[in-house]
Amino acid sequence: MTDGPLRASPPDAVPVAVIGAGWAGLAAALQLVRDGLPVALVEAAAVPGGRGRSLDLDGAHLDNGQHILVGACRQVLAQMRAVGVDPQDALHALPFALSLRERRPGVDTGSFSLAPRSARPRHLAAALYRALGGETPPRRLAALFGAARMLTGTPGEDLPVAEWLRRAHQPPALIARLWEPLCLAVMNTPVAEASTKIFQNVLRQTLRGNQRDARLLIPRLPLGALFPEPALARLRASGAEVRMSTRVTGIAPLAEGGFELTLRGGDPLRARQVVLATAPRAAVRLLPESEALAPTRRALSALGARSICTVYLRYPRPVVDLPPLTGLLGQHGQWLLPRHLIGEPHWLAVVISAAEMSPAADARSRWERVARELSAIFPQLGKPDRGRVICEHAATFDARAGIDDLRPDVRTGLSGLYLAGDHCAHGLPSTLEAAVQAGLQAATAVGQDVGLVASR
Ligand SMILES: Cc1cc2nc3c(=O)[nH]c(=O)nc-3n(C[C@H](O)[C@H](O)[C@H](O)COP(=O)(O)OP(=O)(O)OC[C@H]3O[C@@H](n4cnc5c(N)ncnc54)[C@H](O)[C@@H]3O)c2cc1C
Repeated sequence: MTDGPLRASPPDAVPVAVIGAGWAGLAAALQLVRDGLPVALVEAAAVPGGRGRSLDLDGAHLDNGQHILVGACRQVLAQMRAVGVDPQDALHALPFALSLRERRPGVDTGSFSLAPRSARPRHLAAALYRALGGETPPRRLAALFGAARMLTGTPGEDLPVAEWLRRAHQPPALIARLWEPLCLAVMNTPVAEASTKIFQNVLRQTLRGNQRDARLLIPRLPLGALFPEPALARLRASGAEVRMSTRVTGIAPLAEGGFELTLRGGDPLRARQVVLATAPRAAVRLLPESEALAPTRRALSALGARSICTVYLRYPRPVVDLPPLTGLLGQHGQWLLPRHLIGEPHWLAVVISAAEMSPAADARSRWERVARELSAIFPQLGKPDRGRVICEHAATFDARAGIDDLRPDVRTGLSGLYLAGDHCAHGLPSTLEAAVQAGLQAATAVGQDVGLVASR
């Protein structure tokens, strides 16, 4: 059960402490409350949401980064519903299709699209066959059968995606125009290094023939309003202790059982169990010194990090005539999303994944470059009158080949201490869905270990 009523617990009970009010910590805290356990949620920042949070800049509703979901993010959608947010209203749904615009020096503007009639296998195959138009018939067929194997074959050794694509006879032009941008968007890791195991899993979950799973979902609300803020309100209303703007600086196991959390600028907090729902680097710093935690420490340290920059551009006139999602090939910016869907018609968002690979640039030269490239493709845009660049340097873990086997589990070697976070959801890249799934898994593990939950 993940969506039962929230239960109040006795006010003097020693709580389960959840550290971090990102999507994982919030999902965990809500589930623990549903299971009838007392909860104390401690968050260092003033607002909830962590790496998926709202940000008000220049009087506009922007986010720390433009986010996209797919219909296969079932736990995110369920959690939104559970806190009273209707995904149908809060997310703009597009049938699965990709459209990318290309402009390289000395080359005319070109475009690439994969626009299946539906996400059914035969429609996907027909769309891919059309997209392979520049290839000879034998190469088109080889690529088509190779792509079918990619979706249906059993996962083997976790190769870099580039090698997997080569073995599946995907031609270089298709890799450059479809697979490379898709892999970068999904995994925040380039095909040369990305994990086939995780990428294949995402493709399978999204394109398993169910129209709803394949939908692309673009937020119509600021990220905070999709889940973090209503989740926090529910927790408060259910009697959970919520401490925002409070940093945990240490976790000490107690001889008599349980833990004591050191809080910056506050009295220590006693906890019966602890769910450590911070990003990996913060989690490593907070782990208590204990031999039993050596494997968890190693797993967290192996994850690495990759950055994402979001370039926001404000135009003097409202921009309402662009498609909701356009890929940009061979440019600094990679995906363009107009913000009119979210009620900010003067703003565009441009996403740059794995931004650590692009040449270092100050914010102004970055947004001016993106604006120049956009106006070459969409001359009607003209010049923006303002730009903002938000770079998250540890936006995701490094989803390289082999990483999935190194990821930590929600249970650690120390009884009563659990992890949650996008890094714990095996098989998924760093995403909101991974965060929510891991939060629920951690809450289930706590419930099982205290004898409340049989299994979900
Ligand atoms: C720019 C960007 C774009 C992205 N795009 C997408 C996308 O399109 N689709 C998608 O699904 N995902 C996307 N993601 C990934 C997604 O945002 C993350 O996977 C998800 O938010 C991770 O949630 P989490 O709860 O695991 O961790 P976090 O969000 O990192 O939450 C951890 C929380 O712990 C708090 N904390 C840390 N240290 C302490 C401490 N000592 N004491 C108390 N609190 C502490 C932090 O402040 C934070 O609130 C994107 C991420 C970024 C940054």
